[in-house]
Amino acid sequence: MSAQPGPPVAGPADPELDPAATYALDPRRMHHLLGRVHSSSAETRPTYAPFTGQPLAHVPQSTTSDVASAAAIARATQADWAATDLRRRAEVLLTLHDLVLDRQREIIDLIQWESGKARKHAFEEVGHVAMTARYYGRTARRHLARQPRLGIYPALTRVHVNRVPKGVVGIISPWNYPFTMALSDGLPALLAGNTIVHKPDSQTVLSALLGVELLEAAGMPASAWQIVSGPGPSIGPAIIDHVDYVCFTGSTRTGRTVAARAAERLIGCSLELGGKNPMLVLRDASIARAAEGAVRACFSSAGQLCVSMERLYVADEIYDRFVDAFVHRVKAMRLAADLGYETDMGSLISQSQLETVQAHVNDAVAKGARVLAGGNARPDIGPLFYEPTVLDRVQPSMTCYGNETFGPVVSVYRFGDEAEAIERANQGNYGLNAAIYSRDVDRARAVARQIRCGSVNINEAYGASFGSIDSPMGGMRESGLGRRQGPEGIHRYTEAQTVAAQRLVRFSPVPGMSENTYERLQTAALRLMKKARRP
Ligand code: NAD
Repeated sequence: MSAQPGPPVAGPADPELDPAATYALDPRRMHHLLGRVHSSSAETRPTYAPFTGQPLAHVPQSTTSDVASAAAIARATQADWAATDLRRRAEVLLTLHDLVLDRQREIIDLIQWESGKARKHAFEEVGHVAMTARYYGRTARRHLARQPRLGIYPALTRVHVNRVPKGVVGIISPWNYPFTMALSDGLPALLAGNTIVHKPDSQTVLSALLGVELLEAAGMPASAWQIVSGPGPSIGPAIIDHVDYVCFTGSTRTGRTVAARAAERLIGCSLELGGKNPMLVLRDASIARAAEGAVRACFSSAGQLCVSMERLYVADEIYDRFVDAFVHRVKAMRLAADLGYETDMGSLISQSQLETVQAHVNDAVAKGARVLAGGNARPDIGPLFYEPTVLDRVQPSMTCYGNETFGPVVSVYRFGDEAEAIERANQGNYGLNAAIYSRDVDRARAVARQIRCGSVNINEAYGASFGSIDSPMGGMRESGLGRRQGPEGIHRYTEAQTVAAQRLVRFSPVPGMSENTYERLQTAALRLMKKARRP
């Protein structure tokens, strides 16, 4: 569910916490940032700080005709931007890298205020944007270079493939990683010569606006990245109607509607969707390492992370020792609404997220699940806090068994042998991310090969794959279509154009040659090329 605007139920937890002390939330500064939303209407919608329930911003709302004019501006800029030397475009990203690191304090404060997450989880966003900017800034030439390919006739047919930008790319991003989900998918699109119309989630528009401001400071033309704001169902379809490609990140349910609309227009889309991610702790795993990793795997950003783990499968031989160690760590986690690094987990983002988490836990408990840790809302800390929660005895009849909670709730299960663990990890229709803990990395790799997820981390939860920007990230089955990151993450924003130049030989008999002779010659040539081991 998209974060619903609406005040959380309780008031500020800590009177010392003051959003106005954050540079980006200073009223004059915020007014300047919000001025970047492409909006012709006087309508605004409030957003609230999850930490305290205080109002944060009044965000201008875009109409469908605002979306159309934002797309027209992006389209008018695109040809010039695509004609700008690739080195200059890459320089924008490399400068962004430095700006993001130089201004990380302001960025992290803002992410925390908009999302309610703990500071260390907000820092992951800064790191991810910097790594993405550096990676594409340094590798764009390689990914976008004209590529020679084999011609039909050696030496006589010269073929190369151009990477042509799609044109205007629509980006629809969620609230859970408001800075990196807003920026990181757009960076390769820009570099490939596209311009952008972007709709961030309504709750987290400021983080996206700050990112675009930094891009502009890094040298991107202002008109190349247009921001619109409003409810997804109202303006999302208009975005799809005016762009040449859509990059969507969000729930599987919304992803289906985005894909259907893109299909009607015959434009491409990439969909980064939900998951119910499994972690396997094999019998030879280091229990201490797996327990430490599981805490990060399950509770980063309070579990509101697409690649976080909601199912732990633990080998029978070590189940009790692992669960003891894990639960011990979970119970020791420090929850707080603050801007310091001592906090282990922050708040949920919205009332609807809190209600989903409570509903999943209450349903499981009512049907016989056991709460090993957590299980309670914590309005004493902030209106939307919920304890990191570990359940066992979870059964298929319970909502949290197969449905994504997208919160700090994990179910622990025992398994007998690895075949059973693999089979259970592959249950359901999602296939985003998995983790395997084992001292035998080769064996873990063999298990990984049998798991139907777009990424599998060995002895790590999600950081090893997600942070390795050269490799693709995305989901199998109902977790998505297409991939972000790596060559795949930039090629999706291009059309592959084949240019073939023919010399000497033509594709018909030379004057005076019969069709029969031509056929015999061609047949002989085909046999020869196979013999010569030509692909
Ligand atoms: P959501 O689908 O409700 O919203 C995501 C975005 O889509 C928001 O900007 C929203 O305004 C917009 N939207 C809503 N309805 C729309 C419509 N009809 N047309 C076009 N746009 C529309 O998702 P959410 O609940 O906000 O985000 C959480 C979900 O996102 C979880 O399922 C999570 O797993 C998933 N997610 C996946 C990844 C990934 O990389 N695979 C990353 C982050 C989040």
